[in-house]
Amino acid sequence: MINRLCIFGVGLMGGSLALALRRAGQVGEVVGCGRSRANLEEALSCGILDRYEQDPAQAVRGADMVLLAVPLGAMHSVCVAIRDHLAADAVLTDVGSAKGSVVEDVRAAFGTLPTQFVPGHPIAGTEKSGATAAFATLYEKRRVILTPLPETAPQALARVRMMWELTGAVVEETTVTHHDEVLAATSHLPHLLAFGLVDSLAQQGEREEIFRYAAGGFRDFTRIASSDPVMWRDICLANREAILQALAHFEADLHAIKQAVRNEDGHQLLACFQRAKVARDRFCDIVATSPEMGPE
Ligand code: NAP
Repeated sequence: MINRLCIFGVGLMGGSLALALRRAGQVGEVVGCGRSRANLEEALSCGILDRYEQDPAQAVRGADMVLLAVPLGAMHSVCVAIRDHLAADAVLTDVGSAKGSVVEDVRAAFGTLPTQFVPGHPIAGTEKSGATAAFATLYEKRRVILTPLPETAPQALARVRMMWELTGAVVEETTVTHHDEVLAATSHLPHLLAFGLVDSLAQQGEREEIFRYAAGGFRDFTRIASSDPVMWRDICLANREAILQALAHFEADLHAIKQAVRNEDGHQLLACFQRAKVARDRFCDIVATSPEMGPE
């Protein structure tokens, strides 16, 4: 299906896509590009890449599918480096966790949105990073969200959809704005809260004592605070407006909870907790009967 796949950022996401496509027998050559030779050498020895280039212009030469799998903060510079070297019919796609920022980075770098550009976001991942973290089954039964633009050519969209389906993923489409609002509320806000809570507790005195008494609830709630800090800094900056909206909404609700505690309003607390339990139990039922959720 793909003659030459070029991957920028041969880490968990990019490396896993290459391995999945190889396993499906649907890619001819895989070329990688990144900053560190050590990671690219690792990707060669893991069987992710056939070869690598450290010059982006060389890397994209002759590629019919180009994947941007670098952190969000690096998308723009990669696009600038490749814009004059992409083959006219090459499809360009990405795995960035926020979509509006990537679309703006591509538009700014190319001067216009290429018709061959298809924004994407696999809802899959682990807390590990780099080529050694990649594995062929990462995307199996996971959702991949594509956010095609009015400019996107239907053939480019169809190719990217098929590429992800070959990995075993379930592909869905939505708009850039809807993606960023939903992910801000359901993924970015929880990560922000988990990082913020752990940092707040860690900075309080006698922190060893606090963490010594922490139990399973604390571990469950804060698991995602072990995620990659650079990646999450980039996501918070990239999806700033939607995250601020989600945060403002939650601040108002948190204030109501605080008032209920202050006023010893057990009715209000119970009503809130019961609504939350019903909503979470329903969420778990939905998860049990639909594609699995990625850790993101
Ligand atoms: P990763 O394992 O750290 O891989 C990213 C790769 O990009 C690294 O191997 C690194 O290789 C390269 N890189 C880092 N900074 C760079 C820069 N400034 N310029 C060029 N290359 C750079 O990260 P990942 O988890 O695969 O995430 C990649 C993308 O996927 C991010 O945009 C993230 O938002 C998105 N995403 C991640 C997850 C997840 O759960 N991890 C889920 C969905 C989407 P070198 O050091 O060799 O350059």
